[in-house]
Amino acid sequence: MLIDGHGRRVNYLRVSVTERCNFRCQYCMPEKPFSWVPKENLLTFEELFKFIKIAIDEGVNKIRLTGGEPLLREDLDLFIKMIHDYKPDIDLALTTNGYLLPATAGRLKEAGLKRLNISLDSLKPDVAAKIAQKDVLEQVLKGIDKALEVGLKVKINMVPLSGINDDEILDVLHYCKGRDIKVRFIEYMENRHANIALRGMHGKEILEKIKQVHTIKALGREGASPSFNYTIEDGYEFGLIDPHKHDFCENCNRIRLTAEGNLIPCLYFDEAMSIAEAVKSGNIDEAAKILAEVLKNKPKENRWSESQDNEDISARAFYETGG
Ligand code: SAM
Ligand code: SF4
Repeated sequence: MLIDGHGRRVNYLRVSVTERCNFRCQYCMPEKPFSWVPKENLLTFEELFKFIKIAIDEGVNKIRLTGGEPLLREDLDLFIKMIHDYKPDIDLALTTNGYLLPATAGRLKEAGLKRLNISLDSLKPDVAAKIAQKDVLEQVLKGIDKALEVGLKVKINMVPLSGINDDEILDVLHYCKGRDIKVRFIEYMENRHANIALRGMHGKEILEKIKQVHTIKALGREGASPSFNYTIEDGYEFGLIDPHKHDFCENCNRIRLTAEGNLIPCLYFDEAMSIAEAVKSGNIDEAAKILAEVLKNKPKENRWSESQDNEDISARAFYETGG
């Protein structure tokens, strides 16, 4: 069993399979073109899998593939199948912007994927295009439909931004309710790579918008999930991910692995240790030692509550770590 330095059980591994993306969301990526990590620096699926097996053997029972845009990585379905075949009952999920789902959802499901989180920040084509800096909405909506059609469990992620999509919180809630899928509103997490003019909405402000039309009831956090759940009057459940709150990190159960092999104990901080050499040379004991070291040093909590009005904001690149 994996226990961190603060006594928290870690059973959830998030694996970012690429930092590359076909969108340029303003809250995630710099506007200017920048250079990607050269492909030869990425771990192969076989190398990533060597680490994943260690983590599963140590008690990880939930794995989420993310990115960048994970569906840009060729043969992702084969990677999913590798993990699924090793431990068929693992909770295997993917976070995607949805753009490539119309063509891939069927293969992902067949490979053993169980659940999908799809980002949907707006239902207006021009607003979606402004956020992603590309005309994306039609294809994303098709992707959501396709995922539901092939029988994948879907959740929607929305990042409300003041003056951009804050008038669509109810629209996205109603869109999801109409399809019987859960939406989670995610507080914008300030970071050095995002457009500096952006202002996120606080969880309280998001709830205020919903309360204008619905009576809401707080359910609480579900186990170690970062999502605080609520219901509206007819029982429909939605979530709020509010990293600016202090109780957010209390039950943190996750660590993150990037495509280059950096093992990251906390999303906020830059600290990481590389398992790349260990898995490339097949030194499994060394990789397990690095995992133990990372867990020992996992920070107690993030610092987003302090970073809103602070120059010293997180250097975290969400496109690299996968959010
Ligand atoms: N490309 C995929 C996608 O967009 O779903 C997966 C990677 S993306 C980094 C994972 C999640 O992080 C998305 O739901 C995205 O909205 C969220 N995200 C990215 N930057 C964020 C930020 N600065 N604050 C809050 N959420 C962010
Ligand atoms: Fe790409 Fe996802 Fe970042 Fe948007 S949030 S730029 S889709 S990685």
